[in-house]
Amino acid sequence: MIETAVRPAEVEQVIEHFDVLIVGAGISGIGAAHHLLEQRPEKSFVVLESQLGFGGTWRTHRYPGTRSDSDLYTYGYRFKPWTGAPIASKDEIVKYLAEVIEAEDLERYIRYQHTITAAEWSSDDRRWTLSVSRADTDQRVQFSANFLWMCQGYYRHAEGHTPTWEGMDRFKGPIVHPQSWPDDLNYVGKRVVVVGSGATAATLIPAMAPDCAHITMLQRSPTFFFIRPNTNEVADMLRELDVPEEWVHEIVRRKILLDFGALTQLALDYPDLAREELLRPIREILGDDYDIETHFNPHYQPWQQRIAIIPEGDLFEGIRSGQASVVTDEIECFTESGILLKSGATLEADIIITATGFDMNVLGDIGFVVDGVPLDFARTITYRGLMFTGVPNMAEVFGYFRASWTLRVDLIGDFVCRLLGHMEELGVSVVTPTLRDEDQDMTLLPWVDPADFNPGYLARMIDSLPRQGDRDPWRHASNYYEEREALPVADLDDGALRYV
Ligand SMILES: Cc1cc2nc3c(=O)[nH]c(=O)nc-3n(C[C@H](O)[C@H](O)[C@H](O)COP(=O)(O)OP(=O)(O)OC[C@H]3O[C@@H](n4cnc5c(N)ncnc54)[C@H](O)[C@@H]3O)c2cc1C
Repeated sequence: MIETAVRPAEVEQVIEHFDVLIVGAGISGIGAAHHLLEQRPEKSFVVLESQLGFGGTWRTHRYPGTRSDSDLYTYGYRFKPWTGAPIASKDEIVKYLAEVIEAEDLERYIRYQHTITAAEWSSDDRRWTLSVSRADTDQRVQFSANFLWMCQGYYRHAEGHTPTWEGMDRFKGPIVHPQSWPDDLNYVGKRVVVVGSGATAATLIPAMAPDCAHITMLQRSPTFFFIRPNTNEVADMLRELDVPEEWVHEIVRRKILLDFGALTQLALDYPDLAREELLRPIREILGDDYDIETHFNPHYQPWQQRIAIIPEGDLFEGIRSGQASVVTDEIECFTESGILLKSGATLEADIIITATGFDMNVLGDIGFVVDGVPLDFARTITYRGLMFTGVPNMAEVFGYFRASWTLRVDLIGDFVCRLLGHMEELGVSVVTPTLRDEDQDMTLLPWVDPADFNPGYLARMIDSLPRQGDRDPWRHASNYYEEREALPVADLDDGALRYV
């Protein structure tokens, strides 16, 4: 739909209007578009994406070996069977997303190189107006929408998080963050130090090790990893029986979710046992003489950070072969030829890779204004971890930390479509989460309890994020097993959602 508005400066502008505007064409935005088309085909919608193409995370990250760290049976959508090995490369995931886009002709809804910079809600007009900067035409344009579906992910795509260390400017070689990988980086025969030991470091190292003179993972403290074969016995057996791929996908998903649920429960009930279960296969690869305690036995509990799957233990095979090694120490400063550590030891390097994580983005770094008042997101309280008090007609997809992100994309897809249908039945056009009288005195808690989950990127930004309450529907459960029961039957008329 196209509407013409006269702006104060008397410049005539075309503002395109849609029922729903989806922010971002990553795995969440593509999933949201699918659910809208399937469940609310009468709604007009558009997807605005700042990058040149779809994929989000899987387009931005191009470092050697970029792959998923959870299995694709649960990271894939529930509606599109995954037919490959459980852990997938970036290219395989992009191909999977391309197939979804092609099958449903979603390209016609996506506008690339459109970065939303501001979003303004007007209660008089009952709509959002968005300021958008177009990189393809170098223009600033406007869109308006009745409902905003935020699928902007959780981190800033433009650049990663790099701490500042003394002497960085002295180092003679390149310092590279994996999020901005230079295509022409030549590491063949070079001494490489990777700072960090998260999923990114664990992926990069086995992919680069065979070509480097040596590669060292430098970590301040150890991380948990989960060594798994990159096959799935149930899937293999079902395929041998010629079971249709839709069934394979659903059965394997259920089995993985069951096993994963049991593992999470084990970690919560018997953390020492879970710790030992995670360390045992590492010991088996590296042998009794290796100092597992220093390098691979973390200080935190197994459920407190996401645990990356290491397919076939490739990281540890690299260490066993001598191509890669691990140093657990802290950086004193960078030198001309490497890194001086707090212990006094030095690491000589030709290239330093800072696999030091992300900077979170809050709501896509979009300046939000509600009825003329700039939105302070940190002062809002979340409704079920997907809407926010005082913010009308807006839902956000924030996936699971411990389980696959996409499981929540599907659940929220159903919820938003049900909510839009409910509003139509009620004959209303605005929905705003609002504390009820009985909620006014509730205890407010951080977006995520740091004792429950505490990665660095979240700790850095927790004060900018909304809070949650101590009761439903104001909790951010972040628990797939709870939400798959609760969200489909969540009462939309319990007074927490105010309709106009
Ligand atoms: C290397 C890597 C591997 C990972 N592996 C897994 C895994 O195995 N399992 C798992 O569950 N999670 C994994 N994650 C987490 C991952 O980020 C999520 O799973 C998922 O990709 C997030 O998808 P998304 O669409 O919500 O966000 P993103 O992938 O971040 O995409 C968001 C999109 O929105 C666009 N956007 C943002 N702001 C604006 C704006 N203002 N205007 C226009 N467009 C905007 C961005 O350009 C981007 O394309 C991984 C992350 C990384 C970095």
